[in-house]
Amino acid sequence: MFEKTKAFFKNVKEKLTKTSESLTSSITEVFKAKIKVDEEVLENLQEILILADVSYSSSEKIISKFRDKLKNIESGDDINEDFYLSFLQKEIQSMLQRDDLALTVEAPNIVIIMVSGVNGSGKTTTIGKLASIISKQKKVMLVAADTFRAAAIDQLEVWSKRVEVDFYSSDSKDPASVVFSSIEKARIVKSDVIIVDTAGRLGNNEDLMNELSKIEKVIEKQKDVTLTENLIVLDGTSGQNALSQIDKFKSRINISGIILTKLDSTSKAGFAISASYDNDLPIKLIGIGEGVDDLLPFDSEDFSKALLGLD
Ligand code: GDP
Repeated sequence: MFEKTKAFFKNVKEKLTKTSESLTSSITEVFKAKIKVDEEVLENLQEILILADVSYSSSEKIISKFRDKLKNIESGDDINEDFYLSFLQKEIQSMLQRDDLALTVEAPNIVIIMVSGVNGSGKTTTIGKLASIISKQKKVMLVAADTFRAAAIDQLEVWSKRVEVDFYSSDSKDPASVVFSSIEKARIVKSDVIIVDTAGRLGNNEDLMNELSKIEKVIEKQKDVTLTENLIVLDGTSGQNALSQIDKFKSRINISGIILTKLDSTSKAGFAISASYDNDLPIKLIGIGEGVDDLLPFDSEDFSKALLGLD
């Protein structure tokens, strides 16, 4: 579904320049200033990582690996900035690598993908982009279950027209009942994949979580559908603030992965490391712009290299 090419990587690299430029220039400075890397250098490096919105615990993990590495350096080894950058890249790559990075859009019956995220995170745009990609191979229906915001329903419909996929909404204010009736409709029009736009924020958090659990339950009861993904959309520019959102969602619903948006307009893309590693969740997709093609599958090697401006 997603074809990985060299142009693909170039795209990620170009879009992540805001983070990579600030990150690499500070890192290079730190290593250049000292011939021998010592605790002071490591402290400076940790500070730089934290400034790029890597959490304290993730940065500790990286620094401790660095410390171990330094112990094993032989006097004849060719040590320079490139050596350190490449070590850092590999470390970040291994923290982001997981077996479940790929998005699952295959099932013996109708596939359902649930998408949640707070208002403004880029949820609707992301659903539109995702529908565009999947619809190249499958019949897709977008379901407006963010009934709390009337504007959200209209916006989703606009996207469905733009990317030419089916759209379902109803007068019901109960999202679980909207999802139930959308499944009935999907059977009739023979959809392969239903993407459900769920609310991101309600009057209070408890209501929101109850609502999401209710939707999950309705889906589980249907014999001919499979909930393959339950994704949370996070705004890459909100950095560490978004981490508390993951905690809330994770405690109540079965999140299968993260979509990080707006990585083109943040200098804090290091936040991706914490979002995934600290929460033990895969990043499945990344948003790198407002255009319909600006949604890419996450690749730990490409991403870590792009983060550090490496080829
Ligand atoms: P929602 O309220 O979560 O549904 O958010 P929207 O989908 O309406 O997006 C909010 C704003 O973020 C819109 O102006 C989008 O065009 C913009 N946006 C969404 N994804 C991206 C992205 O990956 N990069 C950039 N630069 N802007 C994005």
